[in-house]
Amino acid sequence: MDNNDLSFHGKVLYTGIEKCPPVCGRDSLHVIEILYNDPAFGDLILYSNQCDYCGYRRVDIHYLNSRGGLSG
Ligand SMILES: [Zn+2]
Repeated sequence: MDNNDLSFHGKVLYTGIEKCPPVCGRDSLHVIEILYNDPAFGDLILYSNQCDYCGYRRVDIHYLNSRGGLSG
């Protein structure tokens, strides 16, 4: 489908199951990487990790465009 809806402009780059290193070490960590194109911040990647086994959760955001002039 080539339907670009403005209400959902994220693109899933990667999903997979990985080892949960910080807590339980089991292969139950769901990893999702989503590419967003934000009109204000530009391209950014959202990394979401969640472990089914121990409940560990972590979200990281990486900004690809570092041209922001928020701080002058
Ligand atoms: Zn875990």
